[in-house]
Amino acid sequence: MSEEIYEIAILGRATWQLHSLNNEGTVGNVTEPRSVRIIDPNTKKAVTTDGVSGEMLKHIHTEIMWVLDDKNNLCDACKVLNPEKFNFAIKTKKATPKNVEDALEQALKTCDVCDVQGFLLERPTASRKSTVEFGWALGIPEVYRDIHTHARHALGEKGRGSGEQEGETEGVSTQMVYHRPTRSGVYAVISVFQPWRIGLNEARQDKDRTNTPTMQMMLLEREDTDLY
Ligand SMILES: [Zn+2]
Repeated sequence: MSEEIYEIAILGRATWQLHSLNNEGTVGNVTEPRSVRIIDPNTKKAVTTDGVSGEMLKHIHTEIMWVLDDKNNLCDACKVLNPEKFNFAIKTKKATPKNVEDALEQALKTCDVCDVQGFLLERPTASRKSTVEFGWALGIPEVYRDIHTHARHALGEKGRGSGEQEGETEGVSTQMVYHRPTRSGVYAVISVFQPWRIGLNEARQDKDRTNTPTMQMMLLEREDTDLY
């Protein structure tokens, strides 16, 4: 018996080794990983652990989709993984939609990545919510952290503050030492995929739905609530 899939949710534990997915910022020449506070369900006490944002996982998902997809089914921006997505087509006048509904319609018909991953438009102002969402990936304590020392060399560049005359430093390398973290651990990962929304123009959907008895009732209820 075949059954149609409405939504897929994945909750799992992933083991990641030596990753650098949550480098948050740099203090001096040291890059810091992102830390978050969670409550340990066993002790009920707050503990600090690694947090990898859902945006990072979604970014990786978009890249994998791009690798697998036929590039003829992508808009000009998504062909080169430009984050502007279909907004780029409108800005460059490759698409001239009449209104929000038409803009979404054209985007959904043109591009698989825009359809699945969502996008924002400036003119007309519109948004498409992604059909794939990721929550925070949280390190299940203990996560192991290491700091590694690296050196960046720029051959032929003059060292700063050396006082040497121009031309005398040819072939001498300047060295910048910096520190990068890696982490290894088991992470709690959560993702929801809504295949039923693929190809669905929600601008048109909203207009149509306001005409149904259920939607009329909901709108009336909302008006009542707004009075209080
Ligand atoms: Zn696109």
